[in-house]
Amino acid sequence: MYNIINKILYKLYRILKNNSYICAMLNDYNIIGSGFSALSAAASLAKEGGNVKVFEKNSALGGRARQFTKDGFVFDMGPSWYWMPDIFENFFKRFDKNPSDYYDLIKLDPGFQMIFDTNHTIKINSNFSEVLHLFESYEKGAGDKLKKFIDDAEIKYNLAIKSLMYQPGVSFFELFQKDILKNLGKMSVFSSYRKLVARYFKDPFLRNILEFPVLFLGSSPKNTPALYSLMAFSGLKQGTYYPMGGFGKVIDGMVELCKELGVKFYTNHEITACNFVNHRINEITTKSTAFKSDYVICGADYHHFDQNILPKEYSSYSKKYWDNRSMSPSCLIYYLGIDKKLANLEHHNLFFDSDIEQHTDDIYKNKQWPQDPLFYVCCPSKTDQEVAPKDKENLFLLMPLTSGIADNNELREEYFYKMMNRLEKYCGQKILDKILIKKSYCINDFKSDYNAFKGNAYGLANTLLQTANLKPKIINKQISNLFYTGQLTVPGPGVPPSIISGQIVADYILKHKS
Ligand SMILES: Cc1cc2nc3c(=O)[nH]c(=O)nc-3n(C[C@H](O)[C@H](O)[C@H](O)COP(=O)(O)OP(=O)(O)OC[C@H]3O[C@@H](n4cnc5c(N)ncnc54)[C@H](O)[C@@H]3O)c2cc1C
Repeated sequence: MYNIINKILYKLYRILKNNSYICAMLNDYNIIGSGFSALSAAASLAKEGGNVKVFEKNSALGGRARQFTKDGFVFDMGPSWYWMPDIFENFFKRFDKNPSDYYDLIKLDPGFQMIFDTNHTIKINSNFSEVLHLFESYEKGAGDKLKKFIDDAEIKYNLAIKSLMYQPGVSFFELFQKDILKNLGKMSVFSSYRKLVARYFKDPFLRNILEFPVLFLGSSPKNTPALYSLMAFSGLKQGTYYPMGGFGKVIDGMVELCKELGVKFYTNHEITACNFVNHRINEITTKSTAFKSDYVICGADYHHFDQNILPKEYSSYSKKYWDNRSMSPSCLIYYLGIDKKLANLEHHNLFFDSDIEQHTDDIYKNKQWPQDPLFYVCCPSKTDQEVAPKDKENLFLLMPLTSGIADNNELREEYFYKMMNRLEKYCGQKILDKILIKKSYCINDFKSDYNAFKGNAYGLANTLLQTANLKPKIINKQISNLFYTGQLTVPGPGVPPSIISGQIVADYILKHKS
C-alpha cells in the first residue's frame, strides 16, 4: 500500500515537473550577493513562484550600491549617475510596476558640469536643444554635427537594447540575427570611439564632453568600440536623473519588490563552499550552515566564486585567463560631510582640469597612481535636503585608479589633499577646516568588502575582446545548476546592465532548465 501511494505521488510529481511554472515553484533558487543583478534575478525568479533566497556577506543589502549614514548624512557608496531610465522602467514593468511606485525620480538640470579650470566650466543643460547651441558656440557647425552624432548614437542605443544587451551570450548563433547582420555597419563594433568623435569635432573641450561618458565603461575611449556612443546619447539627450534620497532608494525599491514576491534575505551570510552530487550543487554553505539548492546564481564577484569557492576541477576559467583580463579601473573615494554650503558646485562635477591622456595612460598602460588625476565630485545635497543636515554639504570625491596596485593610507591621503586643493581653489572657499565626516574607500576595501578581483570597482573593461559573447559566461559547463550574473558577465558594468544581467540569467534558467 505504502509503495502504491509512493508511486502515485511520484507520478504526480513528474506531471507537475513538466509544467515549467509549477517546476519553478518547486525549486530552491539560492542567489549569492545582493547587488543590482542579484536583486533583479531574485525578483524575476520569485515572480514565477520560485522559492528564492538571497545571501549577502555584508550587513547591508545592495552590493556596491549600499548606503551608509552618519550624523544626519546619507552617503551612496557607489553609483550616483542614473542614466538609461528606460532600462529601469522595463525592469519594473515586468512586475506591472513603475519606478515611481518605489522612488521619486527627478531630472537634473544641469545634468552635469565639466570643470576645465577655475574660470572655464561647461554645464550640460537638461534640454538637448540648449546643448546643440552650446556646441555651436564652441565650434562653427558643431550644433548640426552633434545632432547627427546623437541621432546615430540613438540608433545604436536602440539596436543594442533590442538585439544585443538582453542576449545571454552563451552561443555565437545569438549574433546571427537579422537586426544585427543588417545593421552591423551602423553599430560600429570594430572602430574606435575616439576616432568617431574626432571625425565629427575638432574642439578639445567638445571632444572631452563626448569622451567622458565612455570612461564609465572602464576603458579608454581609444580602445572602446564606437558602438558605445550610445552612452553619449543617454548622457546628453535622455539626460541625467536622480532618485531622491540617493541611489540606495533604488536598492530599497528592488528589495521591497523582492519581499512582496516572497524572496527571503540573509545578510551577514558569506557563502564559502558548495557541496556536490553528480555535477550539481546540492547545497551552498556558510561557515556554519548549509542551504539546499536546486539552482545557484552567483551574483558575487565572478572571479572569486570561480577561483576561490569552486573546487579547481569545476572552475570555468584558469588563473591565466583571469590574469589576462583587462579590468576596468578601481577608484579612490572620499565620503565627506562638510559643515557649510559650498559655492560653484553642481550635483555632478567632473574635474577635467588636467590631461585626460596622462590619466588614462596611468590607469591602462603605466598601471600606477596617476601623476595628475582627473576626478569627480558628487554633491547630492545641492538637490536633496535629505542627504545632509541643514546648511551642510554631502560630498563624494572619486578618482579612477588602476586595479590591483598598492593601496595604503599614505597614498590615499596624498591624493586626498591633491583633490581638495583643487576643489578649494575652484569653490573659492576653505573646506579642509570644515570637515565633519571623512571616510576613504579604495582597492583594499573593494577586496575585503566585495571579494573584488584586484579590488576592481566596475568589473571588466568593455574592450572589443571582452564584449558580448566574449565575456565570462553566465553558465558553468560542468555544473548544470550553477549560473552567473553581475557586472563581470553579460552585458557588462554599470547599474542598467547589471539589472539586465539579472533578467537574462533568470530568463535563461526558466527557459532552458525548468
Ligand atoms: C564607486 C562606484 C561608482 C559607480 N558609479 C556608477 C554610476 O554612477 N552609474 C552606474 O550605472 N554604475 C556605477 N557603478 C557601477 C555599478 O555600481 C555596478 O556595476 C553594479 O552595482 C554592480 O552590481 P552587481 O550586481 O554586479 O553586484 P555588486 O554590487 O558587485 O554586488 C555583489 C555582492 O556580492 C557580495 N558577495 C561577494 N562575495 C560573497 C559571498 N561569498 N557570499 C555572499 N555574498 C558575497 C558582495 O558583498 C556584494 O554585496 C559604480 C560602481 C562603483 C564601485
